[in-house]
Amino acid sequence: MNDRQALLAVRDLRKSYGAVRAVDGVSFSVPAGTVFTLLGPNGAGKTTTLEILEGVRDADSGEIEMFGVRVRRVTPALKGRMGVLLQEGGFDPYLKVREVLALFASFFDRPRPVAEVLAEVSLEDKAGALVRHLSGGQKQRLALGAALINDPDLVFLDEPTTGLDPQARRNIWAIVERLKRDGKTIVLTTHYMEEAEALSDDVCIMDHGRVIAHGSPRDLTAQLGQDTWVEFDVPDLGPAAWGGFPGSVQQDGTTATVKTADLVATLDALLRWSREKGFPLRNMTVRQPNLEDVFLALTGRRLRE
Ligand code: ATP
Repeated sequence: MNDRQALLAVRDLRKSYGAVRAVDGVSFSVPAGTVFTLLGPNGAGKTTTLEILEGVRDADSGEIEMFGVRVRRVTPALKGRMGVLLQEGGFDPYLKVREVLALFASFFDRPRPVAEVLAEVSLEDKAGALVRHLSGGQKQRLALGAALINDPDLVFLDEPTTGLDPQARRNIWAIVERLKRDGKTIVLTTHYMEEAEALSDDVCIMDHGRVIAHGSPRDLTAQLGQDTWVEFDVPDLGPAAWGGFPGSVQQDGTTATVKTADLVATLDALLRWSREKGFPLRNMTVRQPNLEDVFLALTGRRLRE
């Protein structure tokens, strides 16, 4: 990662809760105008890392640099330049959407106009609706609007799409992509590998308070090699059933994976084998390795077990 134009950098950040080392020596830097993601399973230390950077918690030790300046404490002046989407919005259910944004606007000297933010998060037609009448996705867009009311340069999004349906998730992704196009720097946490892959310039994969891998999604998955993976469902077959199978196959539960550098030849052989054996290649997919595979290769576990 590029340390030169970093808008945010942390070195050897540490935070324990009693015996639990929630953040155990984390370092990374985030170039301006990029999307940086902390990806990891529950309890990996993502939220604690973010809360330290947002000034919600103090680190036990470590260095933080923000906006090019070494920071001992995250001061109100720094907070004025950041936007924070917390895991729980927690807005008063009896306030109207427009009133929530006006309330947040009142915390800042030079807030953006409420109408502009309403448009940015596509809630113009809900301006007069009570918070309690919003869907989960609309509530989350309102929370994002509140985080953007001060026109922040640096935006922290803690699990912005957890619990949302696919359409609502895509709406949030579109807003994040727009923010990046507008030159904002975004730090997000997620345990959805698709989200990390879709949005991030750089990803830090975290586990047990440590960074276990970092790089662009493409660089991280390239570590698993250039092979293409062909997967299909298998019933409970013993090893004998694979007699005459063209190539080497890995079986994980009910999924078989064939990794190949020559996709056409492999598919050809696979289809011939399937016809000869009368073996249905159910749910066959052809894909490149993804960040979930990287996590599995590094830890032996899945991101969402
Ligand atoms: P999640 O995806 O569930 O939010 P996370 O990666 O954000 O997980 P953290 O919330 O930072 O992880 O938690 C890291 C570890 O620290 C976990 O073991 C958690 O139980 C512990 N922890 C977090 N907050 C506290 C706290 N206030 N007091 C004690 N332990 C805590």
